[in-house]
Amino acid sequence: MKILLIVFGFFLCGAAVSQQKPNVIIILADDLGYADVGFTGCKDIPTPNIDRIANQGVVFTNGYVTYPVCGPSRAGLITGRYQNRFGFARNPIIAPNDPNMGLPLSERTLATELKTAGYTNAIIGKWHLGAHETLKPDRRGFDYFYGFLSGGHRYFPEEYIYNDLSEVTRDWDWYRTKLLRNNKPVEETEYLTDALSREAVGFIEQNQENPFFLYLSYNAPHAPLQATEKYLSRFDHIQDEKRRTYAAMVSAMDDGIGIVLESLKTNGILDNTIVAFLSDNGGPEYANGSDNGQLREGKGSMFEGGVRVPFTLMWPDKITPGQYHLPVISMDLFAIASTYAGVTPQNNIDGVNLVPYINGEVSGSPHPTLMWVNVDKNSYGVRSGSHKLVNEATSSNSLYDLSDDISEQSPIDNSLLSDDMLRTYNNWRNEHSEPLFLGLEQRGAYKRK
Ligand code: CA
Repeated sequence: MKILLIVFGFFLCGAAVSQQKPNVIIILADDLGYADVGFTGCKDIPTPNIDRIANQGVVFTNGYVTYPVCGPSRAGLITGRYQNRFGFARNPIIAPNDPNMGLPLSERTLATELKTAGYTNAIIGKWHLGAHETLKPDRRGFDYFYGFLSGGHRYFPEEYIYNDLSEVTRDWDWYRTKLLRNNKPVEETEYLTDALSREAVGFIEQNQENPFFLYLSYNAPHAPLQATEKYLSRFDHIQDEKRRTYAAMVSAMDDGIGIVLESLKTNGILDNTIVAFLSDNGGPEYANGSDNGQLREGKGSMFEGGVRVPFTLMWPDKITPGQYHLPVISMDLFAIASTYAGVTPQNNIDGVNLVPYINGEVSGSPHPTLMWVNVDKNSYGVRSGSHKLVNEATSSNSLYDLSDDISEQSPIDNSLLSDDMLRTYNNWRNEHSEPLFLGLEQRGAYKRK
């Protein structure tokens, strides 16, 4: 009888554990090149920890973001919606006094939704979705914030000379504020990437008993190119100084991801945690020494180099390791997380729960069409199946077949198909709101206003 009770008790415990809602960790790199991690073929920068996610999970070989620069891409990711639907059409200006400069309050973040399911939520790192009081992380569903509100930051703490954004009078000095812990400036002493990794592990340790969402938003390897000797010394073999510093920055992030994974393992929660890794846009190759491999162009462009990113996701309890080749997009993370948290999002989302597709329970493509637009440049991209229609300064309204031309070098002639794709695109454009705010590129006009 005693043995039976023990066996029965064990069974109950096992059942309770498997029903626990999954933890969710989204690790976002900033301006990382497509070919700059091991699982996309990088040779000169080892990324063993990022590759652990890829080896234990699914690699999306056609993984996209919703925009080729930081701000709008993050707005799409965190709302699960094409950001142009709500007018987040540009990279915002850093304007702490402007309540309209950022993610509008009509939008609900993944944190807001997961909170309704009892999750504890943290953002560690770069926010970039509004610096006004009403737009800060604590007003957008996050219980804990450690990081900075601007679109980038310096990496050495001795350069953090302003208490907060209210003291900043010159552009780009946004990068020199003290880091914030729940809106209070702190005296950080570590290299930025190391500090963010440390905070991520601290949050996991404190919250591992109950479901949590951690948005680990590194700003590595975004400019400025700054790394410590600890990481630089790993790359003495790289002659190009820009590439060498960039490699060191990627390596620091990889170390951080290593201690995050280790913490999940030590606390026995690795198997029921969804861990996603991706970049917010393609690499600006000339600016930071990144490498988009065979993809055309980079950050800012509607060609593949701007919007296709290294993207992998693991969830050992649910997902068998492998590759998934049909197009997916960052917004899908919203759909996956909310589905398994048991939440029905209030807003209509564009993301799709990919798990049944990955596991082969559902066939067909999760996204028959994906689209991108920059309203200021009138550049756009439309992907349907293996085809992509691109309008860019360097190529007007050209159709490519990515199945044998991943580098988008040889336009094909199929006006029936391109007209059809253009119609789909125009219908989608008609659903969009007007841009809500002037962007970083228009800050002269903004200041005059
Ligand atoms: Ca970026």
